[in-house]
Amino acid sequence: MKNIDKIEKLKKSFEKNKNLIADALYKDLGKNFEESRLTEYYPVMSEFDYFIKNLEKWSEPEKIRSFFNFIGCGTVLQPEPYGKVLIISPWNYPFNLTFLPLIGAIAAGNEVVLKPSEYSKNSSDIIKKIIEDSALEDIEVVLGDLEETKKILDSKFDYIFFTGSSKVGKEIYLKAAENLTPVTLELGGKSPVIIEDEHCLDEAVEKIIWGKFFNRGQTCIAPDYIYLPKGTSEKFVELARAYIRKNGDVGGKIINDIHFDRLNKLLENQNIIYQNGKIDEDSKDKGVFPFTITLNPKDTDPILEEEIFGPILPLIEYESLDKVYWDLRGKPSPLALYIFRSEKGNISTRGIKAGGVCINGTMLQILDRKVPFGGIGNSGLGQYHGKYSFDTFTHYKPIFEGSSLKISTINRVINLILSKIKK
Ligand code: NAD
Repeated sequence: MKNIDKIEKLKKSFEKNKNLIADALYKDLGKNFEESRLTEYYPVMSEFDYFIKNLEKWSEPEKIRSFFNFIGCGTVLQPEPYGKVLIISPWNYPFNLTFLPLIGAIAAGNEVVLKPSEYSKNSSDIIKKIIEDSALEDIEVVLGDLEETKKILDSKFDYIFFTGSSKVGKEIYLKAAENLTPVTLELGGKSPVIIEDEHCLDEAVEKIIWGKFFNRGQTCIAPDYIYLPKGTSEKFVELARAYIRKNGDVGGKIINDIHFDRLNKLLENQNIIYQNGKIDEDSKDKGVFPFTITLNPKDTDPILEEEIFGPILPLIEYESLDKVYWDLRGKPSPLALYIFRSEKGNISTRGIKAGGVCINGTMLQILDRKVPFGGIGNSGLGQYHGKYSFDTFTHYKPIFEGSSLKISTINRVINLILSKIKK
């Protein structure tokens, strides 16, 4: 079967199960219908369509035009699948983060073993059903806990695509090194926001909270902590309160008690300046961790050292913007860097490395499938989405075909060309 036919089949099965996808996301993460459509269903469907439109063109071998053509030789770049690929995905956007790499891997002609997260169990079951319904033999879904994943990792793969935390990413990288297996690591980390001047505060607060509200803050590119000019935190809270009053509470729930307790612990010894609800047994049962703003944590507090991955926003008031940039240049490279500034057209990040950057907005850098997505340094290795996904799972094999000319003739032609170049 042609790769494009496999993509069509997969798309049909995904589409057919769209209501079960929404149900599972509601059960696992309390995602409402609009949010699951917007962040999981549509991005996957449009990736299917983009591949269906372009795959034939991408799969064509490319004849390289070079000087060798003159002597009857030439190279063809042949796109080839790696072979057997392992895709390990996390729980926070279980369909999006499983199917986006899967589409790339299948389109490039690989066999795939999928290992979705054990935390988003309902979604993982539906992922298995979608694959079974597609009747594609080159995809196997393995469900199970950590031990199961470790067992899978003992087998040899030709490529590993991992999405998850930096901590586990390092373990995967070590494991892959045993067989020199190439990897893509889509990791997390702390994505900072810099509000460069007070004039952008209104716009910044609205866009930061909008971005942080998706999936109750459990998003790899969610704004993690905010630098804002000294003396503006009260105004920030005032604007945040007004935004929440107008737009309602954060949707969704925290995935499980482990993460609920982890978030609660991050708030120990913190100066909480806004919270839109209580933290008690009832909120824990419902997974409803309230949206919380804290002020000026110490550099060594866990809230500034660990990825928050939940609805907590620490604010850090600064006196010197130069020092903010200086400090950030010394920190691990984030997956996303957000800057709010009044000066239009200035896209400088002043030397901060980041997987992606969004100026005067949040989260939007991920939407365009013509743009690669991925981290750098601590936030990951490799990029994907659209054609970049196809490239990730493809080895471009150069095949050089010689001519029937004798070496002496080839030498003569080469010398002739060289003498012309020298002139
Ligand atoms: P995680 O690293 O705990 O787990 C990710 C996956 O790896 C899961 O399927 C899990 O079963 C498996 N796993 C866990 N421990 C393992 C081990 N020791 N060996 C092998 N496999 C193991 O991450 P998570 O809690 O599922 O997801 C949250 C993290 O993922 C956050 O850090 C977030 O920023 C990151 N993330 C990154 C992206 C991205 O695109 N860069 C997207 C979503 C989430």
